[in-house]
Amino acid sequence: MNSPVRHYVGGRFDTSGVPFPLIDPVSGAATGEVPAAPKELVDQAVQAAKDALHGPWSTWSPAQRSAVLHRIADGIEQRFEEFVAAECADTGKPRELASTIDIPRAIANFRSYADLTAGRSEQSWHTPTPDGRGALNYTVRKPLGVVAVISPWNLPLLLLTWKVAPALAMGNTVVAKPSELTPSTACLLAEVIADTELPAGVFNLVHGGGAGEAGQWLTEHPSVDAIAFTGESRTGSTIMRAAAAHLTPVSFELGGKNAGLVFADADFEQAVQGTLRSAFTHSGQVCLCTERLYVERSIFDAFAQALAEGAKALTGYGPMVSAAHRDKVLGFLDKAAADGQVLAGGKAPKFEDERDGGFWVEPTVLTGLPEDHPAVRDEIFGPVVHLAPFDTEEEALNLVNASPYGLAATVWTGDLSRAHRVAPALDVGIAWVNTWNLRDLRTPFGGVKASGIGREGGDHSLDFFSEPMNVCVKL
Ligand code: NAD
Repeated sequence: MNSPVRHYVGGRFDTSGVPFPLIDPVSGAATGEVPAAPKELVDQAVQAAKDALHGPWSTWSPAQRSAVLHRIADGIEQRFEEFVAAECADTGKPRELASTIDIPRAIANFRSYADLTAGRSEQSWHTPTPDGRGALNYTVRKPLGVVAVISPWNLPLLLLTWKVAPALAMGNTVVAKPSELTPSTACLLAEVIADTELPAGVFNLVHGGGAGEAGQWLTEHPSVDAIAFTGESRTGSTIMRAAAAHLTPVSFELGGKNAGLVFADADFEQAVQGTLRSAFTHSGQVCLCTERLYVERSIFDAFAQALAEGAKALTGYGPMVSAAHRDKVLGFLDKAAADGQVLAGGKAPKFEDERDGGFWVEPTVLTGLPEDHPAVRDEIFGPVVHLAPFDTEEEALNLVNASPYGLAATVWTGDLSRAHRVAPALDVGIAWVNTWNLRDLRTPFGGVKASGIGREGGDHSLDFFSEPMNVCVKL
């Protein structure tokens, strides 16, 4: 059993609300319960965050805020194994992923924003005036206020802290709502924060679903000053409508239908191995995963065969996060099997053990589908990649850019000039050349078109979570 999942409001843990079951995706068994925050508790959390804005927290210097962020990182480090176990239990992801990516990156989020905020400078200008004495302009960065952080289930702690850390770094207060499917590490984070000197009410946590529950109540709340959301593009549209009522600023990291381009001049084995990683890491449940692969025609058959063999040989992958998500992915696969070719996978595996009660889907390679087929056009968010051939660089670019999404893309080529020509011409927020998911936390992160609004990462996050104000002093 997991440790109990609790809300954290105004510095106190709370279990109010009707509980719903927490399910182990590996076996489908119930492992615990999550209390769904009632509306009054969400209101209390926002009020606690609003009150804390004007308390001692408002006097903390960047250096003090930086120090407390490092102490939160220390606290996660001290309970590292608990965090890893909780993340694996909620998501079903292999320990290898949680222990090398999810939890270390959550720690790195706190440390990198701690360092950035401590070293941040602001601008100033001297302005000439008719009397010759001049004026001094300088910018002051103020917190936005109460920030609602709403996060998804695929990288629960990593994506929550990706927003919580910069929001706190800039002096905001936070009400966080993690995915209802994966609430446990957020609760552990609240326990870590409760052990630091962060004033009560600066960080609050409520659990529950989105529509008609805690998520919606937060985004509609008149006292929420900004919304930082990661999740589906459709949810982003809904939240934007809610935010419009109060003109609440939003930062959105949304869905994708990411493409890979493999040119015949690429290192063949590197491109195959890289694509296996980009398509099947966390069983395709990473927003950056490749779901469409375009391969130059002269190597198409050999590449398709190598990728299919690689997919069939994969072991140690995890399940889909829920029965509903598994059914959605299998729905795409049934339609793809009827309309195209399945080169590998295509169904739920059979284990003949407790995993048959879980939500598994085989790593799947498809081909032969038209570009407007749902499996090629829509985000699947599962272990599925579709391969199609191309003849020219121009055609390849058009295929990638025709998508309504624009999060990430990967180019595999051995031609340096082509790499520099093609990568910047892709309509995406993040392009990789001969690698995938290599991230420096200071670089801009985000998508274009239906994949997001705004950029996070490094100073981009610190800019979003603060309001620049100009002061002009006549000398
Ligand atoms: P989701 O949109 O269903 O849910 C995300 C969060 O929003 C959850 O906490 C949920 O409870 C909440 N929510 C749902 N409806 C809401 C509403 N009406 N009002 C307020 N909150 C609401 O997404 P998901 O299924 O949890 O996550 C998968 C999606 O997230 C995929 O589309 C994936 O591409 C995307 N994602 C994007 C990135 C990125 O950085 N661009 C990263 C990870 C995941």
